[in-house]
Amino acid sequence: MDSLQQLVQQTFIARFGNQPSIIALAPGRVNIIGEHTDYTGGFVFPAAIDKEIIIAVDKNDTDTITGFSVDFNEEASTNLGAYDPTHPKEWFRYILGVLDELQTIDQPLEGFNFCIAGNIPVGSGLSSSAAVEMATCIAMERLFNFSLEDQAAALLCQRAENNFVGVNCGIMDQYISRVGKANHAVKIDCSDLTIQTVSINTPDYSWIIVDSKKRRGLVDSEYNNRRKECEEGLAIAQREFSEREISGLRSLSIADLGRLEKVCSPIVFKRIKHVISENNRVLETEKALLEGDIKTIGDCLYASHASLRDDFNVSCKELDSLVNILKDTGDVAGARLTGAGFGGCVIALVKSDAIGSVIASIKQHYTSDCLQENESAAIWPIVISDGARIIHKE
Ligand code: ADP
Ligand code: MG
Repeated sequence: MDSLQQLVQQTFIARFGNQPSIIALAPGRVNIIGEHTDYTGGFVFPAAIDKEIIIAVDKNDTDTITGFSVDFNEEASTNLGAYDPTHPKEWFRYILGVLDELQTIDQPLEGFNFCIAGNIPVGSGLSSSAAVEMATCIAMERLFNFSLEDQAAALLCQRAENNFVGVNCGIMDQYISRVGKANHAVKIDCSDLTIQTVSINTPDYSWIIVDSKKRRGLVDSEYNNRRKECEEGLAIAQREFSEREISGLRSLSIADLGRLEKVCSPIVFKRIKHVISENNRVLETEKALLEGDIKTIGDCLYASHASLRDDFNVSCKELDSLVNILKDTGDVAGARLTGAGFGGCVIALVKSDAIGSVIASIKQHYTSDCLQENESAAIWPIVISDGARIIHKE
């Protein structure tokens, strides 16, 4: 048995005195490419990873929900149906948000006990929050015997984060945590939520994640600014191309940029240039993966990073430095920041037989104020995994 599962199960037994009846797992994710495109109805291309949230649950025959977070070493509880969006324990709000959305769709619940733990680094762009929501959702489905369609479950968890936690996130994180598939990335069309599952096999090359250890700050206000700038760009494009149906930035192409540059402010133009070119890069990467064209995949990754750095302005010196170090090794096909930016992780496609020397280069050259003494970036190979699932049922 997985050691995290064992920890959650044993902690549950120690606190509540009985075996949990259900244990559910939901994974974090890495976005291969397609960054800051989801909230404008564009394409994203994430994969679920082998870092996860595990939750053990059991009914308790009361009107109370009581649980314990192993990682925060805290207990929290609430009365059934009385969910407080200002609950002082932040981690509990993600769970309450899901329960609140289930209540909104009239899904009856009963009191239960739970224990939760995870190993997704928080705030590093691998989406621990969506995994908490999705693990909660799937545990509730099994414990109370109902089932949601994948899309409905993802939308419900997204609403939990939007409405209850107050983070205006897109749909990607919750959706991939639900529908991820081992060895595959999933292209999501965020305008109609259709998905395409694509094998991520890259012979002789391996995907790695490098965690800069810089935790993002200010990201929420910047994120909301970017959203506003994209909305402004869309409104301008709709006026400029009034003869066409422009339902989202997605309806625009590189060929439209010349006209848009004349009518947008320089900032808004850069923002929509990123989104329009990034949507293209997702489609190019998907095609290149199907053809096993490593060079094109790598070029798309580097181009995505440059666009996020120069046009969308969401990189930082740590992420830029890691991408440069990776590039300078000569053994990396491509690399880019992954996640919302301002800190967090870089994803890279590295020659499999050079991983050791690439890691050594990062350890040698990467420096940052946010590292402790003798600390370096964390580096690990990506194991692309399945989406949310039940891992134990009594
Ligand atoms: P991320 O980019 O990792 O999703 P967020 O700030 O969106 O970062 O969400 C992080 C929050 O999710 C944490 O502050 C905590 O409230 C919750 N969370 C993440 N991991 C865990 C965990 N292992 N146990 C309980 N709550 C967690
Ligand atoms: Mg999050």
